[in-house]
Amino acid sequence: MPSRTPPHRPVLWIATANPGKTREFKGLFGARFHVRDLHSFKNFPVIRETGRTFEANAKIKALALSRILPGQLILADDSGLVVPALRGRPGVRSARFSGPNATNESNRIKLLRVMKKLKNAARKAYFQATLVLAKDGVVCGVQHGRVWGRITHREYGSGGFGYDPIFIPKSFTRTFGQLTPRTKARISHRAEAVRGVMRLLSTKIHQLGG
Ligand code: IMP
Repeated sequence: MPSRTPPHRPVLWIATANPGKTREFKGLFGARFHVRDLHSFKNFPVIRETGRTFEANAKIKALALSRILPGQLILADDSGLVVPALRGRPGVRSARFSGPNATNESNRIKLLRVMKKLKNAARKAYFQATLVLAKDGVVCGVQHGRVWGRITHREYGSGGFGYDPIFIPKSFTRTFGQLTPRTKARISHRAEAVRGVMRLLSTKIHQLGG
């Protein structure tokens, strides 16, 4: 009889309190790692993202959590939506695009309003994810992923999170809010960056003690 006990999976801490990101990381890493996030803390630490780039912010988050959790493997994701016609906005400010009390919905409404007059060619955009792996206050690797697409004129679908209902990935006709989590997990910016992290971990896992 095969054992019903799940095989030992090392813990991978994600430096996020965003349930949308954690859900995707569980899907992307689930078989190999036990994924935990800041919701495991009673009072979870608020890490201020003061960097000007995705990489700078991902490093801030990864290093801060790695100091709180010595000996643990930490992954931070800093990501966002970049619209070249808006000179890169919302960019690193994607989560707070519509102000300090922004929600996913208010951010989408603001972006659609700002882009109202832009014709199709100017509606090109990409999602970028930068992942930083850290342990004990040391950065062990950085990986990036990007997916191009375009911004719609209104919302379609309610799947995913953030700007998903207004982003159609290139070569598709439906938004990330309409596509299945499985399709997003195949083509997304986060999926591409995770593939890079997996490669890194498969060569470094013994050094990192995972
Ligand atoms: P961060 O916590 O500063 O990395 O904020 C990332 C923000 O970018 C999220 O709150 C979303 O607004 C947006 N974002 C990042 N990745 C995605 C995605 O996969 N789908 C939709 N929105 C995303």
